Parts: sequence; structure tokens; C-alpha cells
Amino acid sequence: MTIVLFPGTFDPIHYGHINIATRAADLFDEVIIAVYAREQQNILFSPEERLELVKESFKNIGNISVTTYTGLTVKFARKMGAQAMLRGLRVFSDFEYEFRMALANNRLDPDIDVIALITDEEHTFLSSTTVREIAALGGDVSSMVPEHVKQALQKRFNVLGDDQDIVPLTSLRD
Ligand code: ADP
Repeated sequence: MTIVLFPGTFDPIHYGHINIATRAADLFDEVIIAVYAREQQNILFSPEERLELVKESFKNIGNISVTTYTGLTVKFARKMGAQAMLRGLRVFSDFEYEFRMALANNRLDPDIDVIALITDEEHTFLSSTTVREIAALGGDVSSMVPEHVKQALQKRFNVLGDDQDIVPLTSLRD
């Protein structure tokens, strides 16, 4: 039985993440999506909210389960019985980061492999940061996230009103 752990922040989950997890579910027996749950700055959704948004995204896929975790990812992977950790690659700059992380994780636990899937072309530009930024400015994120995530974003930004400093605007500002 091959179990892979797909760790990430998922703030929020978008079609790029969904693409990677769904393809992995065809390749492996079980995919465990692990939402990193330590409280951090500049995070829009709480761990519980992110967990629920991820769960809802995969409710129809039997071999994808979702949980939260804190601490070292390799330790959690071992605890869950995963043989490998799954990551997604978009552009070349992702590779350098993931390469360093994979080597560091390998030093910590050489038995846990890292498997990276290359994203489908249409998701290359997609990141949670971009989604948050577009939603914060009232842009349409329908092609980037499922409907329930879009609604959660709208609700959050309606509540935040002008107090949107939680989303640092980088490049798409008006
Ligand atoms: P982290 O903070 O661990 O990077 P993210 O939620 O940003 O958490 O990303 C989790 C994983 O999903 C990472 O491996 C990241 O490269 C991958 N990922 C993010 N966006 C995309 C995308 N558009 N296509 C494929 N993989 C992606």
C-alpha cells in the first residue's frame, strides 16, 4: 500500500493544489493532505477553516483524506505511515526551493522520499498569495478556486472591510 503525504499551508486551497492531489490519487493508494496548522502571521484562514475548505474540495474522492499537523513534516509523514511526501512544481524557481527542502528532509529521515508532480500548464501562475490578493481587491477568482472557496474568500473580505492588511499586496494592486 503506497501512502503519500501532501503537506502545505493551503491558505486557501486552489485548482493548482487540487490538480496535484487528484493526479496523485490516481497514482497512489492513499493521499493524505496535511494542512500545516501552526498559527502564523499573514494567514487569512484559521487551521480549522483551511481544513474544512480542503475537505470539501475532495469529498468525492475516496482515497484522499485530510488532516492538520504541526511540527516537522517528515515526523508527521512517518507517523501517518507515508512512504513519501508529495509536492507540486510550477516554475523553475519552485524547483530550487523544493530541491533544498527535499535534501533537508532527506537528512532528517532518509526513508521518506519526496515526489514532485509538475503542474498542468493552466495552473502555472496560480498561488494562494495571488488568489488572496485578487479576492482582496474584488477580482474574480472563479477560474482559480472552487465555488465554496470563492464564497469563503468573499465572506472573509466582507468581514475585514478596509482592514485588509492581513493580505500584503505585492503586484496586482490597484
Ligand atoms: P507551502 O507553504 O508548504 O509551500 P502551499 O499551500 O503554498 O504550502 O503549497 C503546497 C504545495 O502545493 C507546494 O508543493 C506547492 O509548490 C504546491 N503548489 C502550489 N501552487 C501550485 C500550483 N499552481 N500547481 C501545482 N502545485 C502547486
